[in-house]
Amino acid sequence: MSRYTGPVCRLCRREGDKLFLKGERCYTDKCAVGRRAKSMAPGQHGASAKKPKEYGTQLREKQKAKRIYGLHETQFKNIFRRAEKREGMAGVNLLVLLELRLDNIIYKMGMAESRKEARQLVTHRHFTVNGKKANIPSMTLKLNDVIALDESSRSLEKIKDLIANLDNRTTVKWLDVDRTNVSAKIVSVPTRDDIDFPFREHLIVELYSK
Ligand code: SF4
Repeated sequence: MSRYTGPVCRLCRREGDKLFLKGERCYTDKCAVGRRAKSMAPGQHGASAKKPKEYGTQLREKQKAKRIYGLHETQFKNIFRRAEKREGMAGVNLLVLLELRLDNIIYKMGMAESRKEARQLVTHRHFTVNGKKANIPSMTLKLNDVIALDESSRSLEKIKDLIANLDNRTTVKWLDVDRTNVSAKIVSVPTRDDIDFPFREHLIVELYSK
């Protein structure tokens, strides 16, 4: 299945929630969700959309997580299956695995405005993991892994702009970000409390358990 290439604000309106897919704009009053009624889905019948029932609520929660992390259905389901096999709660494991994706980490270290941009940086081979070039955005990283900007990319204008913005971005406590060298080390595995989006992950577990 191809990746969604339409207007991303439409996805937020569909979910009735801010999914933060557009970087800085999401924090301004230009945000489409902020300007419209939260429950208004896109399209001519959006305003009259009915309240979802149990299945619909579970489905929407899964779609929300899938869209935030920018995954296809198969990719998302595969991560869920891996999460189920791990010790602990499947829903929390799922979120932790999503957080530990390489593209998400580059976004969280402040090198990209959005996960979409982070994914592009990875596929264009601008980063290394533990000293080796990495070009797979879905790669799951682990404790003590080090992600760094590849030296050969430093002189590119686009990368220079991104580095210039690094200082203005907040990061997460489980990453030790070295802004001078444009690198980050995973100093702890993220916990549920470290994931600030208010996911109701139990609904995703219920959906996939049917
Ligand atoms: Fe979603 Fe960001 Fe668009 Fe707001 S600006 S609707 S949060 S993508």
